[in-house]
Amino acid sequence: MGHAVADDEGAGVASSDVDVVVVGAGFSGLYLLHRLRQLGFTTVVFDTASDVGGTWYWNRYPGARCDIPTTDYSYSFDPELERVWTWSEKYATQPEILSYLRFVADRYDLRRDIVFSTRVESAAWDESAARWRVRTDDGRELRCRFYVMASGCLSLPKAPEIVGHDRFRGATYYTSRWPHEGADFSGLRVAVVGTGSSGIQSIPLIAAQAAELTVFQRTANFSIPARNGQPAAERLTALESDRDAYREAARRSRGGVPGDVTEVAGAYASDEVRRARFESAWEAGELMEILGVFNDVMLSSTANDVIAEMIRQKIRSVVVDPETAETLCPKDHPFGSKRPCLDTNYFQTYNLPHVRLVDLRRDPIVTITDSGIDTASETFDFDAIVYATGFDAMTGPIVAVDITGRDGLSLREKWTDGPSTYLGLTTVGFPNFFTITGPGSPSVLSNMAVSIEQHVDWVADCLEHLRARDLETIEPTPLAETGWNQHVDDGASITLYPTADSWYMGANVPGKPRAFLPYVAGVDTYRAACDEVVDRDYLGFRLSGPAGSECNDGVIRRLQVDVAKVLEFMAELELPPMELMSVGDARAFMAITESARPPGPTVGETVDGTLAGAAGDLPYRLYRPATQGPHPMVAYFHGGGWVLGSLDSDDPLCRDLCVRSDAVIVSVGYRHAPEARFPAAADDAFAAVQWIAAHAEELGGIPDELVVAGWSAGANVAAVACQLARDAGKTHIAGQVLLTPVVDAAMDRPSYVENAEGYVLSAALMRWFWDHYADPADRGHPEASPLLGNLSNLPPALVVTAEFDPLRDEGAAYADALATAGVRVHHLAARGHIHTSLTMVDVVLSGADIRAQMSDVMRSFFRTTVPA
Ligand SMILES: Cc1cc2nc3c(=O)[nH]c(=O)nc-3n(C[C@H](O)[C@H](O)[C@H](O)COP(=O)(O)OP(=O)(O)OC[C@H]3O[C@@H](n4cnc5c(N)ncnc54)[C@H](O)[C@@H]3O)c2cc1C
Repeated sequence: MGHAVADDEGAGVASSDVDVVVVGAGFSGLYLLHRLRQLGFTTVVFDTASDVGGTWYWNRYPGARCDIPTTDYSYSFDPELERVWTWSEKYATQPEILSYLRFVADRYDLRRDIVFSTRVESAAWDESAARWRVRTDDGRELRCRFYVMASGCLSLPKAPEIVGHDRFRGATYYTSRWPHEGADFSGLRVAVVGTGSSGIQSIPLIAAQAAELTVFQRTANFSIPARNGQPAAERLTALESDRDAYREAARRSRGGVPGDVTEVAGAYASDEVRRARFESAWEAGELMEILGVFNDVMLSSTANDVIAEMIRQKIRSVVVDPETAETLCPKDHPFGSKRPCLDTNYFQTYNLPHVRLVDLRRDPIVTITDSGIDTASETFDFDAIVYATGFDAMTGPIVAVDITGRDGLSLREKWTDGPSTYLGLTTVGFPNFFTITGPGSPSVLSNMAVSIEQHVDWVADCLEHLRARDLETIEPTPLAETGWNQHVDDGASITLYPTADSWYMGANVPGKPRAFLPYVAGVDTYRAACDEVVDRDYLGFRLSGPAGSECNDGVIRRLQVDVAKVLEFMAELELPPMELMSVGDARAFMAITESARPPGPTVGETVDGTLAGAAGDLPYRLYRPATQGPHPMVAYFHGGGWVLGSLDSDDPLCRDLCVRSDAVIVSVGYRHAPEARFPAAADDAFAAVQWIAAHAEELGGIPDELVVAGWSAGANVAAVACQLARDAGKTHIAGQVLLTPVVDAAMDRPSYVENAEGYVLSAALMRWFWDHYADPADRGHPEASPLLGNLSNLPPALVVTAEFDPLRDEGAAYADALATAGVRVHHLAARGHIHTSLTMVDVVLSGADIRAQMSDVMRSFFRTTVPA
């Protein structure tokens, strides 16, 4: 398997023009070279290493292993390769993985196109020649059509930011640049600085050799026992019984390892369920299992805290000295917001008499000395210091090369405030330039073998496409890139990831911009986006050749990530369209969906009562904040197209509004169609508003501090009630809050066409609602279509519209018309949302920010200052 490597190997190819230059000969570069060669593209690969392997060439520290089972952390492109290679352990060691990559290089005769021990220093786009000029540290210059950074996410070690680290006269080691001959710590006093993955893997083995080991910890990290051994029998059986299905399942999974996504939400599960699921994942010793204990591990701090605390209990149960145990317990970041570690006897190591832990948060390092380390309170002498201080991740290796695109644009400068990519694969201003597992792709959140193969395949297919169409260049458009960046940010912003100072956020490198680097929505979702881009004629790319250029410009993902997941889930259920149901069935169906959702936040109290409607008593439910009253009040009208809905249907939303706005919410059960048709609902709403205003004090409210609010058809009757109250001149209304309102029966605006289907509220369903509610002759009446009414002298308004809602344009028209009539209006356009998503409390997390903004505006309507 071994292969003697001459440093100038590949030099023949490298001396002339080539189709593609690839930086990096690790997992990515090797497969890329293989694919491109198969397609007949001349390719040269450079690597600073003297052999293939990338990560597995450099990281030779004791205990280095993968953290994804090796059955899965393997190439899948060639079934024959899979047949001839067998892994000896569940988590293979670095030497075994390196042997594998060397085996791959030999098997496909890859080395002849790889130039080792050579650093690529710069790459510049030559517009006139439509070629990249690539320069290396040994003075070579190549011209190539395409330039690919397969340079790794974790390949640029971060220099230790410790004063005096070059003064030490003993032996210094870096886990990421471990000497090939190894290190012998027998009888030595050793320091390890850093307790990330590399530290956690190496510390038990260094402790087994050293006379004394002192570990310097800045951040305690979550780690679970790897339970290494033979590859798991069930994985092997599944793989061997149907290899194609197994690999396909990996490609279609969230993290790149086959497995079911649980429906158990940790925030709501019982203690028994929580404990049972956690213990089972703890026993499995697999990253994707522990990260998938609940479906909301990275979304809900309640769920996350459950797991974090269970792991802390495990640490306390292992580490004998209580103070050391507490220091080893991670408390400053959510579980999973840094890639959790898999270890073998890591925590047990601290029970050994010659091992000591120093907490740098309490006793920071002042300087490295010529004989050891000085902390603020102690002087240590060592024979050897091992730095396990991590990497300048994801962007570091890319911007370490001086890459210049069109018009002299420097990539380093373009990314000064954080990376900007389209699909994590390309970036505007840099034609024919690709990154493998770049920022904006799932990369480090996944089994990278799967992500790497997907990227390589995408790039190879793209190059083939260009050649087949006689096209020379490809470059993303600013619109597509901005849209992708937004999508990546939106996805991260609903998770707990951005709350941690992690290398995912660039927070471990001083001066690096704080931005969440990977794509969180999963390799399955990501792959679908990449495939769809291709299927839609390379959406968002400009492709140019001698015959001209073509561009189907656009944004590939405009829905919020969690809204898209809800729609996918609903599509899988294959529900019959509601407009084809009877009213009774539609109501029963609504009741079922309500029973299965999160309850919403806890309020001070809820009180059910009755109030006087237009034609008799109506039920209401009052939500009182936990804070001291009296409070401003909100008369609230639920959604449901005047036909469906109830006090229960909008209960979570009312709770949420109550807590956020610190107001008493009175949700009104107005009469429904078809039993009570137009104008029953509107009349009830007006009557209810008057009743609530008149009874403000006894309800615990502040008189004259009343906002009228509603969602959808409820917003319709709320708007009408405001107009009627103005006309009657008796009731003071402080403001109106209209969430995705129905304001006009016309149903002919563009949003009705654009969003006619696929976003829960369809154009057909809206027609069904109108048909049940009002005769066509009545629909133009302002009490049915408030947009057609007199809009002057109305209370200040907040109108919220959702981008993918048939009602979007009529809501916007209402906001415009109110403003024209001189009413103070806030129009909040919820990007990426649908008609229903803003009400899906604790399900569609991206709606929370919109509701927070809604509540802020609502507070501004109240004269009494409500503290934020
Ligand atoms: C210790 C460790 C353990 C890991 N374990 C796992 C795991 O279990 N599962 C998992 O999914 N991922 C793991 N990873 C992530 C791992 O990096 C990837 O899985 C994978 O190996 C990356 O392959 P790559 O080819 O993209 O990059 P790399 O393997 O990093 O290779 C990039 C190569 O590019 C070269 N290079 C960079 N810049 C230049 C330049 N300017 N000129 C010339 N050469 C250059 C580097 O020398 C390097 O050899 C681990 C990472 C580390 C550090």
